[in-house]
Amino acid sequence: MGIKVNPDAGILCGGCSVDSGDRGPDGMEYCAQTMTASQFVPARWPMDDLTYFVDPSGQSVMPAAEVLKAFETALQAYSDRFVLSFTRVMNPRDANIAIRFGRIDGPSGVLAQSHVADGTRRQKQQTYDLERWVDSDRPGRGQIDLGRVIEHEWGHVMGLLHFTPPVGGLMDPSYSLDVPTLTDKDIAAMVKLGYVLRERQRPIPPANPGQGAGAELLFNTETKVIYAPEPWTLKRR
Ligand SMILES: [Zn+2]
Repeated sequence: MGIKVNPDAGILCGGCSVDSGDRGPDGMEYCAQTMTASQFVPARWPMDDLTYFVDPSGQSVMPAAEVLKAFETALQAYSDRFVLSFTRVMNPRDANIAIRFGRIDGPSGVLAQSHVADGTRRQKQQTYDLERWVDSDRPGRGQIDLGRVIEHEWGHVMGLLHFTPPVGGLMDPSYSLDVPTLTDKDIAAMVKLGYVLRERQRPIPPANPGQGAGAELLFNTETKVIYAPEPWTLKRR
């Protein structure tokens, strides 16, 4: 399925498909998408703070709260790494990105569709098909990991297209249980689009050396590992 041109909101990814649940994870095709809109040039959103609306009512396999949680977790993969924030709103008219669940082609086949960022503030939309969704890194047979699909679709709505040929990234055409989240390749593609990486904060010496015991230094915002350093002592020669 090719990318469709949507005159109102850029292009639509019609991919993200599985051939058949019977073939197992290794045989799944994530997206069968090909680039056909040659004039379309994806471009990053003009702002860093985006709003989204999710209507989980179109599906019935996951409780609404779990669906919302899956979005929150998947989007955090982006906001943890990039200077971006995503706020869920209760009114679709207030949303930069409006998300719904609804039938595309039923279980298997196409999993989801997403508009691709086009450099404007115009609302983008995503539709997630009626799959056997589950929010798990180890989905059962015939189940589809919603979090992984959200992260992939979010790449599109931020302006990423598929890697063709595949590079082992989340934005590859293949749904792979080996790639649960953004890889360095996906992150590099985001940077190329103009998104700004959050700087890893360097350890800041205590303002008053010698009295720094107990100060907490944040070394790594990506994994949220907080180190409590040894008491800081300054030796004079
Ligand atoms: Zn896709």
